Amino acid sequence: MNPSLRLCLLVFAFVFFSASAVPTLAQVKPARDPNQQIDQEYTNKIREYTTAPYFNSPLTDYLPASPNVPTPKAVLGDVAGAPGKLPYAEDVYKYMRMLERATPRVKVYSIGTTEEGREMIAVAVASERLLERLEENRARLLKLADPRTINMDDNEADRLVADSFPIYYITGTIHSPETGSPTALMELAYRLAVDDSAYVKSIRDSVVTLITPVVEVDGRNRMVDVYNWHLANPNSNWPSLVYWGHYVAHDNNRDAIGLSLKLTRNVLNTYLHWKPLVLHDLHESVPYLYDNTIGDGPYNAWVDPILTDEWQMIGWHNVSEMTKFGMPGVFAHGDFDTWSPGYLMFMAATHNGISRLYETFGNGGADTLERTLSPGEYERTWYRQNPPLPKAKWSQRNNNNYQQTALLVSLQHFGANSKLFLKNFYLKSKRSIDKPKSEGPAAYVLPGDELRTANQAELLRTLQAQGVEISKATAPFTVQVRKRAGAPAASPSPSPGASPSASPARRGNTEDRTFPAGSYIVRMDQPYSRIADALLDYQYWAPNDPQTAIYDDTAWTMGELANVEVVRVVDTKVLQAPMDRITGEVRSTGNILNSGNVYLVNHNADNALITFRYRLKDAEMEAAEEPFDAAGRKFNRGSFIIRRAPEAELRKVANELGIQVYAVDGAPTVKTHPVRAPRVAIMHTWMTTQDEGWYRVGFDQLQVPFTYISTQDLAKESNLKSKYDVIVFGPVGRNSLAIINGAPMFGNAIPWKKTSLTPNLGGIDETDDMRPGMGWDGLQNLIKFVKDGGLFITVDDTSEFAVQLGMTAGVTASRSSRLRAVGDILRTKTVDAASPIMYGYGDSLAMYCSNGPIFGVNNGVGGGRRGPQQRATGRGTPDDPDTPQGRPPAELPEPPPRVDPWQAPPVTDENRRNAVGLIPPALRPRVVLRYADSRELFVSGLLDGGDEIAQRPAVIDAPTGNGHVLLFSTNPFWRGQTKGSYMLVFNAIMNWDNLNAGRKLDPK
Ligand SMILES: [Zn+2]
Repeated sequence: MNPSLRLCLLVFAFVFFSASAVPTLAQVKPARDPNQQIDQEYTNKIREYTTAPYFNSPLTDYLPASPNVPTPKAVLGDVAGAPGKLPYAEDVYKYMRMLERATPRVKVYSIGTTEEGREMIAVAVASERLLERLEENRARLLKLADPRTINMDDNEADRLVADSFPIYYITGTIHSPETGSPTALMELAYRLAVDDSAYVKSIRDSVVTLITPVVEVDGRNRMVDVYNWHLANPNSNWPSLVYWGHYVAHDNNRDAIGLSLKLTRNVLNTYLHWKPLVLHDLHESVPYLYDNTIGDGPYNAWVDPILTDEWQMIGWHNVSEMTKFGMPGVFAHGDFDTWSPGYLMFMAATHNGISRLYETFGNGGADTLERTLSPGEYERTWYRQNPPLPKAKWSQRNNNNYQQTALLVSLQHFGANSKLFLKNFYLKSKRSIDKPKSEGPAAYVLPGDELRTANQAELLRTLQAQGVEISKATAPFTVQVRKRAGAPAASPSPSPGASPSASPARRGNTEDRTFPAGSYIVRMDQPYSRIADALLDYQYWAPNDPQTAIYDDTAWTMGELANVEVVRVVDTKVLQAPMDRITGEVRSTGNILNSGNVYLVNHNADNALITFRYRLKDAEMEAAEEPFDAAGRKFNRGSFIIRRAPEAELRKVANELGIQVYAVDGAPTVKTHPVRAPRVAIMHTWMTTQDEGWYRVGFDQLQVPFTYISTQDLAKESNLKSKYDVIVFGPVGRNSLAIINGAPMFGNAIPWKKTSLTPNLGGIDETDDMRPGMGWDGLQNLIKFVKDGGLFITVDDTSEFAVQLGMTAGVTASRSSRLRAVGDILRTKTVDAASPIMYGYGDSLAMYCSNGPIFGVNNGVGGGRRGPQQRATGRGTPDDPDTPQGRPPAELPEPPPRVDPWQAPPVTDENRRNAVGLIPPALRPRVVLRYADSRELFVSGLLDGGDEIAQRPAVIDAPTGNGHVLLFSTNPFWRGQTKGSYMLVFNAIMNWDNLNAGRKLDPK
């Protein structure tokens, strides 16, 4: 730009902006205030620890000095991002509270605790003026967030926008091995409070920056322990972070659907309380800064296009400004698809805010390292015109520079455009309320005659936690719904798992349906309709979608995964149904009806039943092996018959859990067996605990007690059956040999235990050496456990383990070659309704599947499955017999009976002649659940090549010795979302010593 033109523009800008009184924030230059002193010593250290000048910016290459506000050095003993310095969460908090005491521009809020009782905080930083007005501003933001409160009046909204200032919420280190953001956020808070440069001042005066410096607090402290161990043992291999939080590892950032973790709830509650316009989550895995605010397609189908435009605007601006600073490797777009709403940041996207996420470059600790990138990381592409360097010395300080610079650029841009974003926030909220009359649907209805009332209530409580309003019909109402495929129009009530009312109604494709009083209605004319719509609707990911690097699950349809009926209603008449808005949490009602000396509980596959069993541990309960009638109603197979139980306690538990108990005089005459509260162990490896963590979440939520053991413990205990009745072994993400061998035994022992150096390790489980696996002795003990009568429950790859190690005669497991079932929902069909595992279920169940193993069953050991018989080459048409020439045609034997893919081929006389390898009938695998046929298999998400798994067994009960191995191809416990399939596991547990009940044995 030539000087005279620049002058022209300056004059124009002056005239224009002084006339309109709009602040010229967008023009503020990123540079320090020459009149403010800098902290020279701190600044020198920043420069020393930054490995090249272009890895810093004019915003962070100095630190302003303050006479009374301490710098991060007060706690760290060095500057933020210094080599060798990784603070515990408590140290980060200590510093934030020092800031709070030193300046009125910082306030610290406690926002809850973690599973292990550690505190989470949010730190607000802004000018005194803004912080003094936080509450009155919040009152305005609440109105903008719920335009019903101002009668959807755009003029009133404009007045509120004019008076309001936005809140920008930044969250750090949810992923514990991504270690840089706590120190970056400490220094950022200092800069925002102290720096008098026009640039930073403009942020402070226009935006409240809200910071949760550590999201995964339990994992952070463990990570610091591991790093400190590494510093103390510089020549040793150090432990991998086998535990992050108490339950799960990276999946703590996939919990915004199930809301199982406290960190998710705490951040969500903070978000819902403060109404920030942005939730910006910091990660470290990509060089040097990938702003995946923009991401790639397919975008989540339920967010407002206003939001997706905001992503583009904010993300590209960020890249552009940092490119001007000369910082290499800053880019947006990338290949992260923005489909799943399960990420922490996405809580903003689904609540009318803006979700953002950075991936910066971390070293997994505070060591300065020479980092060599792969071509895929350093090559130039259209969206990465200034790519990272192929090779560079990289420090934690570099990472802190990138994080802070990018955040300051974002905050400044946001502050300069705060009125635009506030108005957009209002518009998105308003358009969410307008949903029924624009894109629809009008509501989702959860019928009042739901079979699984406790699971239904649990699903609705999860929606309530998202801020969704729930109403309850006070009288029956009739609306048009999509016709149920395969069901006659007059069918009064669908069987569970009937085809979904998923798509918008097409003309002629609808029918009237009357819902009873007590039905729950999730109205879509509410500000948070979007999250309810996204969670309750069905997903469709086209097999030919150009996005092939699918980032996460493609489906999450909550009703299907909860085994609860949810009806999408487009007909706006539903909004006129007589209903009351529910205040308080949705609860299913439970009590004792009638009187008598025997109590009956219908088995409806509600998860509350397992809690009921364990809560009333000493009560004698039996399961009915057949359905029966009593107390004027039908009871399903598996229903509980309780002959002796303390009534007061029974009533109390039934009431708390929402379980209906029927008292009768005398037990019904039906075959029964005991339902027990057995001793359960959940087993983990020392290589990864990510997926089994979701099992612990589910068991703990439902108060199912368990002992937590590792594969290493198996080798130490030759009589496992004396300690446990059931061992649950969730997916491990490793092959069978790795489960046995563990990690290679090269180098030093790797401890995971609580010591004075590592006070946060251990606690969940501990070992002197993480490397050994189960070992062959452990395997022997495990096999003996099953032979002795134990139940071993396996899932996905641990099912393959059980098959490959010979624990399951007659079961085969292989991996698919064409199937693409990428975290989707598939339909399964009941094969053996008399198996206790299927108690309470209907003839069909939707289950989460992620390319699970493809099972087959045989009645013999060693025989492979033959494909369908086709005729051999010869004379005639395809269905003709061939004819040998020169002799009369021989009589052909009866063709073998047709066998479905989930069945074992029947035993022939040839097999029995010398029956080596023929499995006795009582020990043959029993298929209880199978995948549906290709036509019915798809429920939600991406399914390609489904014929490969269609009709194959999904759940197999394999008797072994006196015990059983239960094998899942699907995953019944996933991210707190699959509550509808939990009971398959719980049924197996409660009936562990009677799993053969109802079994029909082959005659030979
Ligand atoms: Zn991450």
